[in-house]
Amino acid sequence: MRPDAPSYDVATVRAQFPALAQTVHGKRLAYLDSAATALKPQAVLNALATAYGRDMANVHRAVHELARRATEGYEAARARVARFLGVADASSVVFTRGTTEALNLVARGWATPRLREGDEILLGELEHHSNLVPWQMVAEATGARLVWVPVPVDGVVRAEDYLERLGARTKLVALTHVSNVLGTVLPVAEIARGARAVGAITVVDGAQAVPHVPVDMTALGCDFYAFGAHKLYGPTGIGVLWGRRERLDEIVPQQGGGEMISIVEREASRFKEVPHRLEAGTPHIAGALGLHAALDWYAGLDQAALHAHEARRLAEATVGVEALGGRVIGAAPGKVAALSFVMEGIHPHDLGTILDHEGVAIRGGHHCAEPLMDALDLEGTARASFGAYNDHEDVAALLRGLERARALFAPSP
Ligand code: PLP
Repeated sequence: MRPDAPSYDVATVRAQFPALAQTVHGKRLAYLDSAATALKPQAVLNALATAYGRDMANVHRAVHELARRATEGYEAARARVARFLGVADASSVVFTRGTTEALNLVARGWATPRLREGDEILLGELEHHSNLVPWQMVAEATGARLVWVPVPVDGVVRAEDYLERLGARTKLVALTHVSNVLGTVLPVAEIARGARAVGAITVVDGAQAVPHVPVDMTALGCDFYAFGAHKLYGPTGIGVLWGRRERLDEIVPQQGGGEMISIVEREASRFKEVPHRLEAGTPHIAGALGLHAALDWYAGLDQAALHAHEARRLAEATVGVEALGGRVIGAAPGKVAALSFVMEGIHPHDLGTILDHEGVAIRGGHHCAEPLMDALDLEGTARASFGAYNDHEDVAALLRGLERARALFAPSP
């Protein structure tokens, strides 16, 4: 097995994550669950402490110094997200609670008022429930039909799988940028181009993509892009809906209240422009500042070296799991950072428990992707997922734990 490459200083990265300093069940922590949520670097913890401990005030309201700092910090975070997404217009960035809320906002605020009986929503079997259940709800409310794109057993998703199902009735294509189970990177740009050609919009779930692949809205050509901060080393409870300005303007606000109005009269109110009309109430101010810090921290890593480092971890874990008799689920070329597998005769939850006792944190189950599990005829999988801080020793601990599980579950002679 190859050691960590010298071009990427993983020890320096690890030293920035206080959570990694602990032991779990007396063992060195091998955190291999970043696809569920990433650990947070000190820079993000510092930003949260400053937001709550020094610059604490509400935004867009008072004129006092602390309120000025909080408002400027909140809007600077919006501008930082815009830069991360490669867009010039910061007002096209709406803060939400996370990916799920962002996708629901499009479903409720854009799709439900627009779609009609007979319209079609195209979506893949591999989608996370967050990019699936909201479209079921739209279909239920409007009479639109869900058209499913099957997922091949090898987990390779081809643009044609989507393009051949597009037609005059297709109004919306919902797809993930990166699969949380298979690690497959979807050909979003090609699919979005095809969707546009038939007059459909494209909604992209970027939850798993943002920590691993470049995300540029112009290159992707989608209409909406959703992600949360917490898989990108940022805080929980804050996320983003990016939209083309004309699409965002079409969203009917789903929440009324403070912050989103310009004039309120007894019978009716007038709303502010986007993004504020879609951010009713006091937002997660500290979260936005934490997201800003996370994006700065992440941008400080050499991106090519980081991606190569994560690919190395994925490759060595894949080889190791297969050598132990595990079946790897998902073999798309260029897959990123998530290794799903099954070990014959050992339930993924049992694997998770045995590994936990070895200090190894993985996830076992259906990964909020039940239609995918159905399609692959699996009850669930074990999933090890990788982030900037995972080193060679983490993978070695995973493989030692799997060996132990195999020994425990070996049929008695
Ligand atoms: N979409 C995918 C592909 C995910 O993996 C997840 C989280 O696991 C989500 C959506 C939900 O994201 P959030 O926690 O930001 O709502």
